[in-house]
Amino acid sequence: MGPGGLLHCALAPLDIAVWDAAGKTLGQPLHRLLGGYRDRLPTYASDGLWVSLSPAELAASAKRHVESGFGAVKLRLGKEATPELEARRVLAVREAVGPDVRIMVDAVESWSLARARHTGRVLQDAGIAGLEDPVHHLDVTGLAELRRQLEIPIAAGEHLYHLDAFRRLLEAQAVDVVILDLARVGGVTPWRKIAALAHAHRVPVCGHVVPEIQVHALSAVPNGHMVEYVPRSAGILASMPRIEGGELVAPQAPGLGLELDEAAVRRHQVA
Ligand SMILES: [Mg+2]
Repeated sequence: MGPGGLLHCALAPLDIAVWDAAGKTLGQPLHRLLGGYRDRLPTYASDGLWVSLSPAELAASAKRHVESGFGAVKLRLGKEATPELEARRVLAVREAVGPDVRIMVDAVESWSLARARHTGRVLQDAGIAGLEDPVHHLDVTGLAELRRQLEIPIAAGEHLYHLDAFRRLLEAQAVDVVILDLARVGGVTPWRKIAALAHAHRVPVCGHVVPEIQVHALSAVPNGHMVEYVPRSAGILASMPRIEGGELVAPQAPGLGLELDEAAVRRHQVA
C-alpha cells in the first residue's frame, strides 16, 4: 500500500461508492456530475508491457495493443545495465508499432539522478513521448532538475497520498504531468482538489490504473490528460468502457455506469 498508510486506500472505495450513488440518485453519469468537461479522453495501454519481458516480447505485446485500438503505449524500464540497452527496448517497440504511436516510459523510480539524466537523454533521442517516475517520488528537487534538463515531459505523482505532497511537487515545478492514484489519494473527493490545484499551476493530470473510474474523473476536468488503461477489474465487470479512436469513452449510464458480473463477484467472495 506504499508509504502513505492504509487509511486513504480504505476510504477510497467508500468515497467512490457515495459518488456512484449520488450520480444514480440524480440520474447523471459521474463525469457530468463532476464537471462534464467532455465524455472521453485519450487512453494509453500499459498492461502486459512489463520490465520482465524481452524486447521482442515487449514489441509483440505493444503491437497487439495498437491493433486493438490504442494510439499510445507505456513501457516499464529500469532494469537494464546501460541506457543504450534501455533504449533498445524502446526501439524494438517503435519498429513494431510504426511512427505514429506515442511511446511513453515508466522507470518506476529505478534510477539515481545521474543515471536518470543520462538515460533520459538517450531515451529522448530514441523518440519517447514522456518519462514517468525517473527517480524516487520524494526526490522533488531531482525531478525538477530533470525537467529543466530534458525536453520530454516528466510525469510523477502516483505514489503521493496527500494534497500537501502534490502542492510541494507543483510549487517546485517538478513535473509536466501529475499522475493521480484514486485509491492512494482517498477517492474522488480529494482527487478533485488535487486536480484543481494542478490546473491552477497549468499542469495536466493523468490517471493511474482503474481506467473505468478514472475516465469519469479525468473527463470532468479541463486539465484531464490521458487515462492509463490497465483493466484489472475487467474480470468482475459485465463490460469495460469502450475504446473509440484511441479514446476511452465514459459510460453514459447514471453514476459510474458500471455493472458488476455478479457470478464473477461471488467466485471471488471471501466468506
Ligand atoms: Mg507508474
